[in-house]
Amino acid sequence: MAEKIWLSSPHMSGKEQHYIREAFDTNWVAPLGPNVNEFESSIQSYLREDCHVAALSSGTAAIHLGLILMGVGNGDEVICQSKTFSASANPIIYQGAIPVFVDSEKDTWNIDPEQLEIAIKDRISKGKKPKAIISVHLYGMPYKVDEIHDIAQKYDIPILEDSAEAFGSTYNGKKCGTFGDISILSFNGNKIITTSGGGALIAKNKEYRDKAIYLATQARENAIEYHHTEIGYNYRMSNIVAGIGRGQMTILDEHVKARRSNFEFYQEEFKNFDSISFLNEDNKSYSNRWLTTILTASFEEREAIRLALQNENIESRPLWKPMHMQPVFNKYPKYTNGVSEDLFNRGLCLPSGSNLSAEDLKRVSDALKKCMIHV
Ligand SMILES: *Cc1c(COP(=O)(O)O)cnc(C)c1O
Repeated sequence: MAEKIWLSSPHMSGKEQHYIREAFDTNWVAPLGPNVNEFESSIQSYLREDCHVAALSSGTAAIHLGLILMGVGNGDEVICQSKTFSASANPIIYQGAIPVFVDSEKDTWNIDPEQLEIAIKDRISKGKKPKAIISVHLYGMPYKVDEIHDIAQKYDIPILEDSAEAFGSTYNGKKCGTFGDISILSFNGNKIITTSGGGALIAKNKEYRDKAIYLATQARENAIEYHHTEIGYNYRMSNIVAGIGRGQMTILDEHVKARRSNFEFYQEEFKNFDSISFLNEDNKSYSNRWLTTILTASFEEREAIRLALQNENIESRPLWKPMHMQPVFNKYPKYTNGVSEDLFNRGLCLPSGSNLSAEDLKRVSDALKKCMIHV
């Protein structure tokens, strides 16, 4: 059997172990230390000098703290893009709040401005103004930032920008991860850079960042005796893991280039198959192409391709199943237009790692082409 080709696997720069060794040599083996500080400032200078970064144990923890900072509590409603990974929505439930799912538009596959406004008006008419909106740059493709943020501003609702899959993407020349009132990144093993597991909260406002760190360290007050006035969490990033992050930051832009070049390769290879289409950028968006995604003619064609790849030991995955279709979430309010369900039925994510070789890519392409001739 040929070696397995993964959807998206970790890709080290070679510098990571230096920072880890430094942490051991100086005995900073703790959920704080120089690597954490340096990792935070390198993220900050990559994104924008005037944003404030808190390195945390995961992207999910960052979303959870973001909702707390926005004052989301028991019985509140939070609008959430339905087409996303469950980690965007789970923290709403941690807070005892109610998710309200909103469908996607066809251009970026992200939250639909039209459905969003319908949802906001309807929730307000029911006496429940949403406390926050969670919008997601899925697969690295920026959502319609201008439109979505205009609507949020019109109704004065804060945005939590889930940029877990879009580190390195830009919109109107600005980095994703800087648009939300609060934004988050993830450094899980499959993301464009990884710390093995980790995340970050990004805030325009330094008070939010400081409060996030306070909550992430058990809400410990600045007193010699352990003194608490609030419930806290153990969500800080460890200094070992942050060492991996420092090494990874040195090659983030190379990873973006490599993933974009994977996309271009696939696009070129499959240009003669009328039933296969790609997700295109517009004049405002620049995607990190975290995953290359294709849309096929039908569920049957999608499954034929997926199984043909699996037969050749190549991992692929249907586009994420929308939250409003998940058994755990389908009882909550939803505003749908059929787009995300259709994408789920016909779409497929292809191997997209920055460490794929030309031979790997060729293997994927050959397997897909062979199958297309038979369907
Ligand atoms: C990965 C991911 C998260 C969660 O990040 P973790 O670091 O795995 O907790 C959140 N949202 C989206 C869209 C993701 O892809």
